[in-house]
Amino acid sequence: MTHSSATADAFRQEVRDWLEENCPQSQRQPAVAADQFWGGRSGSFPSEDARLWYERMRDKGWVAPEWPREYGGAALDAQQARIIKQEMKRINARTPLYGLGLWMLGPALLEYGNTSQKEQHLPAIVKAETRWAQGYSEPGAGSDLASLQCRAEEHDDHFLVNGSKIWTTAADRCDWIFCLVRTSTEGKKQEGISFLLIDMHSPGVSTTPIELISGESEFCQTFFDNVKVPRENLVGELNKGWSVAKALLVHERKLMAEIGSDSPRKVVSPREAAEQYLQKDDTGKLTNTELRSQLADYDMQMHAIGLTHMRCFEERQAGVRSPAPLVMKYLGTEAEKTKSELLLKIMGSRGLGWEGDSFTDEELDTLRLWAMSKAMTIAGGSSEIQLNVIAKSVLELPQE
Ligand SMILES: Cc1cc2nc3c(=O)[nH]c(=O)nc-3n(C[C@H](O)[C@H](O)[C@H](O)COP(=O)(O)OP(=O)(O)OC[C@H]3O[C@@H](n4cnc5c(N)ncnc54)[C@H](O)[C@@H]3O)c2cc1C
Repeated sequence: MTHSSATADAFRQEVRDWLEENCPQSQRQPAVAADQFWGGRSGSFPSEDARLWYERMRDKGWVAPEWPREYGGAALDAQQARIIKQEMKRINARTPLYGLGLWMLGPALLEYGNTSQKEQHLPAIVKAETRWAQGYSEPGAGSDLASLQCRAEEHDDHFLVNGSKIWTTAADRCDWIFCLVRTSTEGKKQEGISFLLIDMHSPGVSTTPIELISGESEFCQTFFDNVKVPRENLVGELNKGWSVAKALLVHERKLMAEIGSDSPRKVVSPREAAEQYLQKDDTGKLTNTELRSQLADYDMQMHAIGLTHMRCFEERQAGVRSPAPLVMKYLGTEAEKTKSELLLKIMGSRGLGWEGDSFTDEELDTLRLWAMSKAMTIAGGSSEIQLNVIAKSVLELPQE
């Protein structure tokens, strides 16, 4: 046993013991949307156990294990953070705090923010005092994000922001929004973009919910009407926001690549569903040969994705630059789509319920997962755009 594997094993045991002692039993099972804690001024704990679990994790620094201690983290390395994740997954421990601040803005601020921005925002995110929205997309700028038009005019000590952002998830419940704004129309369109942090309670900010086919509303359009934003809320340099935006997107896509492995839904795996819903012959084989081979394909695909995740992690640890993370968002979200389609085929009409007592929670969640899995192949950059990026920067194929 090498020194480093012995150290990792010792740390794993320490994590295991700590979780055993500190994670309440009720927090050791898959969470549905209502069980998630997103923090912020409008956030509330779904239960007392959820509060206790979050507070213990926060105090331990494990809400953001890799962040420096002064910002509320535990200053752990990537391998230790991964061990915590694995051990939490082993006992089905719920994520204590959800949030775009934690997953996306925080890591970008650690790289591009100045000291006072880090001091103001990072501890507030870990303490769940602020919830963040993402202001990237606009009605005319989704895949072609660099075409964005929301303008920020420079004044002495502030910017004046006018325009709107669309598909801003939960913006009506957020305290702050990180935004890409146009600060110049000279030169290449990517070169006139800046990255601004905007307080959602500033005069001139408003949100309108966008109703979805389900009747629920998760998205908003967020409007900025002469919103005064202090100059110190500019992250990085003026007109250089595209670099911050791209770094943040890497964190977003990494997160989305793992989406299936941290599903809040109660859905069963395709293999478990096959056991429950499909007929078998005398030898125990599924009689539906088509579904049998689709299940085998799915299992092999998931195994390959798992190995590629491990490869990405080890390459990162060894400081090797690799294109693998670029393909993970595409692979992870497409696999989740395949999974939910397979589940519906296996469950037949039992998987088509939207509400009502005649369906189990798992059955009702399957259809929601199916709808959500399609959205996930669009959010954070659609699958087609991911393939374009892979073609250009990994395979170096010609543009036309
Ligand atoms: C669940 C969810 C949450 C989201 N949350 C947020 C958020 O919080 N904040 C935010 O700013 N945005 C958010 N978005 C928006 C998301 O970033 C955009 O939907 C996405 O970038 C696609 O942009 P669009 O919707 O304008 O589609 P378009 O860009 O109009 O694309 C439409 C279709 O054309 C295809 N297409 C476009 N260009 C090309 C091309 N060059 N080559 C091949 N195909 C192409 C696309 O793949 C897509 O299928 C969210 C989206 C979803 C689904």
